[in-house]
Amino acid sequence: MSFTIQNALIPVDSGYETADVQVVNNCISAIAQNLDSAGTVIDGKNKLLLPGFVNAHTHSSEMWQRGIIPPLPLELWIAELYDFTPLDPEQVYLSALGTAVETLLSGGTSVVDHLVLIPGQELETIAAAVRAYQEIGIRAFIGPLIQDESLTAGMPAGDGAIEHAAYIRSTKATLELMETAIKQFHNPEKGVNMLLAPTGIQLCSDALFEGCIDLSDRYNLCRHAHLLETPAQKQLAHEKYGCSAVEHLQKIGYLSPRTSLAHCVWLEDSDIAIMAETGATVVHNPLSNLRLGSGIAPILKYRQAGVNVSFGCDGAASNDSQDLLEAIKIGSILHNITDLDYRQWITPRQSVEMAALGGAKGLNAADEMGSLTVGKKADFVLYDLTSLSLLPRTDPIGLLILGRPTNAVDSVWVNGKQIVAEGKVKTIDVDALRRELFDRSQWSSKRQSQTVSEIEAHYRQVMKLPGYA
Ligand SMILES: [Zn+2]
Repeated sequence: MSFTIQNALIPVDSGYETADVQVVNNCISAIAQNLDSAGTVIDGKNKLLLPGFVNAHTHSSEMWQRGIIPPLPLELWIAELYDFTPLDPEQVYLSALGTAVETLLSGGTSVVDHLVLIPGQELETIAAAVRAYQEIGIRAFIGPLIQDESLTAGMPAGDGAIEHAAYIRSTKATLELMETAIKQFHNPEKGVNMLLAPTGIQLCSDALFEGCIDLSDRYNLCRHAHLLETPAQKQLAHEKYGCSAVEHLQKIGYLSPRTSLAHCVWLEDSDIAIMAETGATVVHNPLSNLRLGSGIAPILKYRQAGVNVSFGCDGAASNDSQDLLEAIKIGSILHNITDLDYRQWITPRQSVEMAALGGAKGLNAADEMGSLTVGKKADFVLYDLTSLSLLPRTDPIGLLILGRPTNAVDSVWVNGKQIVAEGKVKTIDVDALRRELFDRSQWSSKRQSQTVSEIEAHYRQVMKLPGYA
């Protein structure tokens, strides 16, 4: 299968150039002016061609709870989230489709789904997400979200010791489950990649991390986790390890060039040096960090230290959307208020590079995707530069990153296959998806989380919030 996009605008060092891009066997075979038209011809006139972005951290099934969770910090927000998590694999399938649609229509060609598993139906949950991603055709990196400690262990104990209930599944059983899932679902040729993805230091034992390292080494898979999202987690790490979470993860060998870590809000300067030295990637989720009051990640410091940074939406219940361009915009300009030296501020072209190549690097796939380069996979997006939100004509990438692009994505290809054409997803019936999402939900504004009421007093006490005594 081959095709040629003619006369598309592509960014070059000196600005922009109009060029043809030829794709043969799912890969970019040539980029030049006036190429012979091999295969189907696609008109790229007045359109901007960019490499596909990576939605480098999300939890697809949170879509069922977007918009409803009140303003709460992570530790309480997650208690409510877990109380109402979907328990039907068909819902997981539908929210994976929804996540993919919104990612594709905001410039993404790959998604990292840190997938919440339905207890007792873990493999069915993964199968449902795999089915969705294969049907729609987005490149999927699925990291089943695993832990081996119960929710209350994720909070610092403060002065008092707390008893935690045992987790529902043993560490050994969880690792066996992951190995089964890898054997069953890891299929890069078909666009599905499995990741090892313990939720983070707050709910995982060293044995679980070490088992994940072993599996990622044996099957050559990437590693993922949350890292130091909140001040409470920073405190917890010191209680648990007597050192920072980053020092501990380095000690046990979890950090590597194929490790990506979501959030990284509360790192010390010495931690940043460790991140740079180990080659681990930071996934910046600015909207989630704002929504949950987690803090502002020191992204400019990471970049200056040589740490690779990419962007994620995080789950739709802490965002409450999956608009990747929105996350990129906020994640790029947010740091202008924390760092006075404007020469370090992120330029729109740097944002594009972080979202595309930065995302690919964090998945150990920079030689296969992340830039418009001959030999790389044809994962790219054509933006319609005649869209009202991208007019009048100034700097196309500036308009795309700093503006509020609506209906700007014209076409999307993943692995050489066209998924979106004329702004519409072609591989699935989006109207049917809308009907399913509508029919399986209801308008609602109030609900009572049992767990939040149980743990809130302790949270207020350890975080020294008013009225805790
Ligand atoms: Zn997350």
